[in-house]
Amino acid sequence: MTNPFSLAGKVALVTGANTGLGQGIALALAEAGADIAAAGIAPPTETEAKVTALGRRFVAIKADLSSLEPIDRIVREALDGLGGLDVLVNNAGLIRRADAVDFSEKDWDDVINVNLKAAFFMAQAAGRHFLAQGRGKIINIASMLSFQGGIRVPSYTASKSGIAGITRLLANEWAGRGINVNAIAPGYMATDNTAQLRADEQRSAEILGRIPAARWGTPADLGGAAVFLASAASDYVNGAVLPVDGGWLAR
Ligand code: NAD
Repeated sequence: MTNPFSLAGKVALVTGANTGLGQGIALALAEAGADIAAAGIAPPTETEAKVTALGRRFVAIKADLSSLEPIDRIVREALDGLGGLDVLVNNAGLIRRADAVDFSEKDWDDVINVNLKAAFFMAQAAGRHFLAQGRGKIINIASMLSFQGGIRVPSYTASKSGIAGITRLLANEWAGRGINVNAIAPGYMATDNTAQLRADEQRSAEILGRIPAARWGTPADLGGAAVFLASAASDYVNGAVLPVDGGWLAR
């Protein structure tokens, strides 16, 4: 019997795969059989070593997603380097913290440009290829702040609420054409993104106290959801925003 979760022979393009959640997702997809193209600003040296140690092929694509300029090249380099493209994971992202009353236009634009604008146009560029081949999987990385308001992170909340919206919009347009567009909404995960939060004793204790699983998540915790949404196992799953949050939203 064929394994519906197998990604053997597939190519996955992951943005921001050098560290944190992107690295965890890239490794899980590689373990399931996929070759990996990693696009981002920082060299994905550690991810490359781990993916190639699994016997998978790896292509590093240097690209700053604060503008749309590299997007067509990213898709082309993944296709040229690995001979195909089956999965896009829109993971690259950043966060800026300040009280709403003081929030700057720069902190608004910097976050929206990478987290929302580049993610949409990456989906468009990969989507054009997926539409031509009649199949493809797009996984956007959402957040608890796709569902909740958050505090002191206005551009981040706007970007992640927007990600949930465009996940549903793209699913509506493309589900009938063989493309699955879904999102993973990680809970509170121990990465650089949450270093400031975890260093704040009071906020850290408040957050931990609300997580039914009683721990911060790790990059590896997203692996199962990523493999599911990248594989044939999710062929009838469209426009879902799947929380992987240790129960945070259930509280
Ligand atoms: P991280 O800071 O460790 O990783 C962010 C990644 O994005 C890095 O690879 C970084 O180089 C890349 N990146 C940032 N700006 C970029 C740019 N201009 N061009 C290209 N790449 C860029 O943080 P993380 O926690 O691993 O975050 C990954 C994703 O998960 C983000 O979208 C984040 O919003 C989301 N997320 C994180 C958490 C959490 O608790 N850590 C929770 C929900 C969602």
